[in-house]
Amino acid sequence: MKKITIAIDGFSSTGKSTVAKQLAAYLGYVYVDSGAMYRAITLFALKRNLIGNDYLHRDELIKQLHEIQLHFEFNPTTKTAEIHLNGTNVETEIRSMQVSDKVSQIAEIPEVRKKLVELQQHFGKNKGVVMDGRDIGTVVFPDAELKIFMTADAKERALRRYLEFKEQGKDISFESIYENVMQRDHIDTTRADSPLTKAHDAIEIDNTHTNREDQFHILLQLAKDRIAGRVS
Ligand code: C5P
Repeated sequence: MKKITIAIDGFSSTGKSTVAKQLAAYLGYVYVDSGAMYRAITLFALKRNLIGNDYLHRDELIKQLHEIQLHFEFNPTTKTAEIHLNGTNVETEIRSMQVSDKVSQIAEIPEVRKKLVELQQHFGKNKGVVMDGRDIGTVVFPDAELKIFMTADAKERALRRYLEFKEQGKDISFESIYENVMQRDHIDTTRADSPLTKAHDAIEIDNTHTNREDQFHILLQLAKDRIAGRVS
């Protein structure tokens, strides 16, 4: 069967990765979480004290970029391709608030983007890939057969993340999560290099009031249409 490329972009905490994983599992495609790659570089920068609350040693980070090796490894227990930074599984560590607070500053650096976009294009070179992020349909795979742009009300998005953290036993205030979501939206949409924007041929989905199951079926139908060569 013909394999296509599925690009899912959108704001933070709109459930992109959830639906991307569902689609990849159903279609037997590879799922790539591009946000995890930006988060892993942020973790590297934090560990090397290249970024902190009031500083960013940008030039030094750029110099050290060649020391960063990233790869994904499928974990059969979690059924997810988990990210490894220089050989260590950092899938959990990259989800901390400390990383979330800094990642958009790191993602603004053109040299970081160039390195990751090349890697992402390599991962998707054989098609049969679902990738989520901010610039997948605009920069990484401008020729993707299916492009989705996901949005949802900011308060609803922050609430979803808050409940996720709570479920994991993490005590983080709703206000700090809401602030982080708003701050990332702002940096991601206004940065000079590859800002988050809806590709002209992307299908916009506002899921403020849609449940995960319904959303999955909407996207799956769109994917099946594209695979069959029907453009709806
Ligand atoms: O998807 P996630 O929320 O984990 O992404 C973390 C951050 O990485 C985003 O807020 C954004 O700053 C950056 N990012 C990006 N381009 C992508 C994916 C993520 O700039 N393709």
